[in-house]
Amino acid sequence: MPFCPECKYEYVTGVGECSDCKVTLVDRLEDEAGSPETEYKWKKLETQPGVVYTEMLKEVLEERGIPCVLQPGNTSWLAAKGTSTVGANPHLLVPEERHEECMRIITELFGK
Ligand SMILES: [Zn+2]
Repeated sequence: MPFCPECKYEYVTGVGECSDCKVTLVDRLEDEAGSPETEYKWKKLETQPGVVYTEMLKEVLEERGIPCVLQPGNTSWLAAKGTSTVGANPHLLVPEERHEECMRIITELFGK
């Protein structure tokens, strides 16, 4: 069934344009409600190295309603060798549009 991408109105097969919105109908609506987080353009947030620091920051950002993804650094083999402070550099990904806001929060929390 064709749908209008604007008003979500369902049309009968054969109709090619929404009479209200004057837009071309689509076969199916995008699943917008599904996972909005995948819509973000992620940007790496430069932080100080350290798993504890990064996890703490993630919590703070989430408390403030900023979605973020913790991307682990390449730590597994280093940790196994007992050199966890070297090369252990996990980082956070935040939506690009909120990157500046995150940087301000970091400054606010930890200073420069
Ligand atoms: Zn419409």
